Amino acid sequence: MPGQLFVDGSWCDAADGAVREIRCPADGVPVATVAEGGAADTARAIAAARAAFDTGPWPHTTERERGDLLFRLADAIERDAKEFARAESLDTGKRLVESEYDMADIVACFRHYAGLAGTQAGRVVDTGRSDAISRVVHEPIGVCGLITPWNYPLLQVSWKVAPCLLAGNTFVLKPSELTPSTAILLMQALDEVGLPAGVGNLVLGAGARAGAPLADDPRVDLVSFTGGLVSGRAVATAAAATVKRVCLELGGKNPNVVFADADFDTALDFALTAVFLHSGQVCSAGARLVVEDSLHDRFVDELVARAGQIRLGGPFDPQAETGPLISAAHREKVESYVAGAVDEGAVLRCGGSRPPDPALADGFYFAPTILDGCDQTMACVHDESFGPVLTVETFTDEDDAVRIANDTTYGLAAGVFTSDAGRGQRVAGRLRHGTVWINDFHPYVPQAEWGGMKQSGNGRELGLAGLDEYRETKHIWHNIDPRPQHWFAPFHHAGGAS
Ligand code: NAD
Repeated sequence: MPGQLFVDGSWCDAADGAVREIRCPADGVPVATVAEGGAADTARAIAAARAAFDTGPWPHTTERERGDLLFRLADAIERDAKEFARAESLDTGKRLVESEYDMADIVACFRHYAGLAGTQAGRVVDTGRSDAISRVVHEPIGVCGLITPWNYPLLQVSWKVAPCLLAGNTFVLKPSELTPSTAILLMQALDEVGLPAGVGNLVLGAGARAGAPLADDPRVDLVSFTGGLVSGRAVATAAAATVKRVCLELGGKNPNVVFADADFDTALDFALTAVFLHSGQVCSAGARLVVEDSLHDRFVDELVARAGQIRLGGPFDPQAETGPLISAAHREKVESYVAGAVDEGAVLRCGGSRPPDPALADGFYFAPTILDGCDQTMACVHDESFGPVLTVETFTDEDDAVRIANDTTYGLAAGVFTSDAGRGQRVAGRLRHGTVWINDFHPYVPQAEWGGMKQSGNGRELGLAGLDEYRETKHIWHNIDPRPQHWFAPFHHAGGAS
């Protein structure tokens, strides 16, 4: 693996020769050394993407040609899926089986957008007149800056790169500095399947240095950002100066509402998966259990018992049920979140510390944690921990459940568990969250949109809305019977000498 930047069709080191060592969060073992780009590298990548858009052939290829390239890319990723999954697990520390699952989703995402090619011809509009034709057509936006996080590294990249390329844009990708490996593999695959030089560029490095120029450089037309709320606000603020398109996919503090009439064992299994999958490092993690008060004691007792049995381990441990946190700094953040929650009155029912197992001592592990006795006055209920931490609140009736579940500045996802189908639909309809699962948690399909309400972001990914993020819509009006105008006297050309 080159471990370099990819600019204008060539692999290269950072301008100042800086590098970063990537270590596996599961055991601290070095897994890669990659170029650490800065503002000068990003500026060079932007220039390449600008030239490829303004003077290159890519924006003028047909949608079908671009779709065919995405199909070839999907085939290449599928062929090398084992290598991709291994690299992803080494960077993130997540279980190999989860990375393999992600690769299947990534292939499906590229195939989904490839399959949309040729179905997006725009539309003809009825002008109500016989002398004019009106068409609404789609065009690429231009140079897109794509900035992605570390929790689902290549999946988040694929949600942006696939629609961006299908629409005919060029891009500069800046993946998380913590997890660069699969973005490097992706650029190799794009090069292999024939993406023209300059259309896709990769810069690696820290957000403030390598990522920030994508938000404020006037040569960038759109910035699509997935990450935390604080960084998202900084990106939106910087982008405002050039009024570029901004697509934000931010954090979540997602309620999982469990009614007493839910199937007990099903709700229990899903409540555990909702929050502890990938050690809670999932934007849509069900980190807020909102449970009917009559069910609370039995349900939470059982949850605590089951959470205490979750087996932690590294990517290649077949017995592991979840893995480490991404970094020492992130674990410290989760630890201080838990300490803060206990200080404000939450009852620590399990976890709350690093696991004692010496075999895990070199990784950034944190035990699955349940904080009972929480309510909406507490910061722990509102702040995203992005770790394996569940807060528990109770409700009395349907209205109370909806009120509590909507009491968040975020609005990314929510779950509802009930055996009453009507209630499930009623509550789902009232929840102000971009995705609501009824008697399920976490699944998605690339055909359906993904995006948050409120401060979870303004962006839409996946589905047709995901493609709309990457295209301009233009109205073309054609007067098919042009003749002198008579209706507005001051400008009427009467003919003859003036
Ligand atoms: P982060 O905000 O720290 O970083 C995300 C990316 O932005 C990284 O590539 C980083 O280098 C870059 N960045 C940081 N500051 C920047 C700046 N000022 N200008 C330009 N780029 C900058 O987030 P993270 O810790 O990598 O990811 C975790 C967060 O991502 C969580 O809050 C999670 O909820 C969110 N997330 C959201 C979704 C979604 O679909 N809504 C999906 C995955 C993750």
